[in-house]
Amino acid sequence: MHQPDDDKPSLDDAFAESIQQGIPHQSPVQPQQLGLDSEFHFHCHRRISCFNACCKSIDIILMPYDILRLKRHLGIESRELVGRYTVPFEMDAHGLPGLKLATQSGSTACVFLTEDGCGVYHDRPTACRYYALGYMGMRKIDTPNVDDVFFIVKEPHCQGHQENKIQTVCEYRIEQGLERYDEMNRQWRDIIIKKRSSGPTVGQPTTRSMQLFDMCSYDLDSFREFIQGEGFSQVFDLPEEELSTLLDHDEQLLHFAMRFLKQILYGEQTIAQHQNAREVRLARRRERRGAQAPTQNGAVKQTDPG
Ligand code: SF4
Ligand code: SF4
Repeated sequence: MHQPDDDKPSLDDAFAESIQQGIPHQSPVQPQQLGLDSEFHFHCHRRISCFNACCKSIDIILMPYDILRLKRHLGIESRELVGRYTVPFEMDAHGLPGLKLATQSGSTACVFLTEDGCGVYHDRPTACRYYALGYMGMRKIDTPNVDDVFFIVKEPHCQGHQENKIQTVCEYRIEQGLERYDEMNRQWRDIIIKKRSSGPTVGQPTTRSMQLFDMCSYDLDSFREFIQGEGFSQVFDLPEEELSTLLDHDEQLLHFAMRFLKQILYGEQTIAQHQNAREVRLARRRERRGAQAPTQNGAVKQTDPG
């Protein structure tokens, strides 16, 4: 959803569809692909008869930068935001953790919807900004590049398609503040696309990798604590100055979290490691295994999460 000048509501998740099964048969997503210069008819504003209709039945997948903007808007920690305003779901058959925006109790309406429209308008999620466009990344076979592809999402309740305003996809993205959102979420999207297209060898992450994915994607406050911990500093050689910049700047911290994830999941070495990092990791793994081994009376000890 978008709104002011003209405020619009939303749902949508062509992106989610793209990272899972592709466009379903009965989808409101129009089959024609759009590029940045493609024009389309659409205008959403406060006086439109369907105002807020799209926020009354939502299915919105959240991305890392959405979480960051929402928690900042509400002045709470990422853990609290996730606990109070999102619901978990699995993004793929391996249980890759995803989050959707929660609905109001006993209703399908967005938890942030108010009589006056979106209660978090200036920090509304990516999918809300894109609506009534859908957006997905497409990787061509045998190339590492991911292309942006856009679609129109036409749902019967949305009257914005009948309005006279014509704009290009590029103009629309600027108007909706999407360039920043896409830039901040791009690495995360690429991580997911790579996982989908890498086949069974990379496709099945360990439980530990899943936990790290969850933290890096949705709990930046815990990630901030994590990189200050002994476990991290024993393995990674992060200069003091860089660490202190990351601790003070959420956006840079999020980019760093994505680099960290790529290193953990795909071995993309962009964060320097100490020379003895391998030995430290092996020792820690042995420790964890030891902690999981059954004790003499058959009970299983707690696993070390670090
Ligand atoms: S956050 Fe909720 S209320 Fe706001 S635009 Fe999105 S769906 Fe609508
Ligand atoms: S249904 Fe469409 S036109 Fe109506 S408020 Fe939502 S996005 Fe705007």
